[in-house]
Amino acid sequence: MESKTLQTARLAAQKAKEVITYYDQNRTLLDVGLKRKNDLITRADGEAEEQIIKVITSAFPEDSILAEESTGEIALTDNRTWIIDPIDGTTNFAHGLPVYCVSIAMWENKKPKVGLVLEVNRDEWYTAEAEKGAFLNGKPIRVSGCEHHQESLLATGFPYRDMEMVDAYLDLFKVFMHETQGVRRPGSAAFDLCLVAAGRCDGFFEYGLSAWDVAAGSLIIRESGGVVGDWLDGENWLFGRRIIAGNPAIYKYLLERIQQVIPEKFLEEK
Ligand code: MG
Ligand code: MG
Repeated sequence: MESKTLQTARLAAQKAKEVITYYDQNRTLLDVGLKRKNDLITRADGEAEEQIIKVITSAFPEDSILAEESTGEIALTDNRTWIIDPIDGTTNFAHGLPVYCVSIAMWENKKPKVGLVLEVNRDEWYTAEAEKGAFLNGKPIRVSGCEHHQESLLATGFPYRDMEMVDAYLDLFKVFMHETQGVRRPGSAAFDLCLVAAGRCDGFFEYGLSAWDVAAGSLIIRESGGVVGDWLDGENWLFGRRIIAGNPAIYKYLLERIQQVIPEKFLEEK
């Protein structure tokens, strides 16, 4: 039986999906703008977020909200806090390219309790509750059993704003091109995390992400038997802008290579 919290997340995501689908079918109304360089926003982002917050606050009026388009990043308290990305993958959405998600998480005592990622185009609902497992459209999912990096498929995102690490990042890609079966770049971190949770990819790494990109997907990975950490193998990945996730073997491989290739000064945010 799903908790009222997860049921509320589902209802909120359904409302967001209706907004997103409406704008997808009425693209002249999208009104694509820039928050800053390469950081797109559309009318759908704001309106989907409004719908999500409306559903949540009517079900749980005491809860706190951390949402991309209305609060930005704020420090977590021990209170129940909903962490919301109305559209993860806005650049894809604005260009009409599939792969964008609604991501909704609820954290309490600074720990993830509920995570939901909805990939809108394929209508894939990834859900997890702490200690209750992870599911795709209601069916349990597990991370892959891939133990050898030569057989692994990785997912990542490219930096699009913060370019200080570009050269080091390209060195890292060179290593992965030689040592793995490939690197995919779908364009939505929330989706990348779910690819790992469902065993479709074996590992994921990225830098420059925000809390709302990873708050839900990370719980879904953990509940499917995977590992999430920062680039120092620590716990500072929600706000730390450096994340690795994978099945246990590929997590370890990614951590090793990142620490070998990326200069030490970049391993945590200064
Ligand atoms: Mg996002
Ligand atoms: Mg977004």
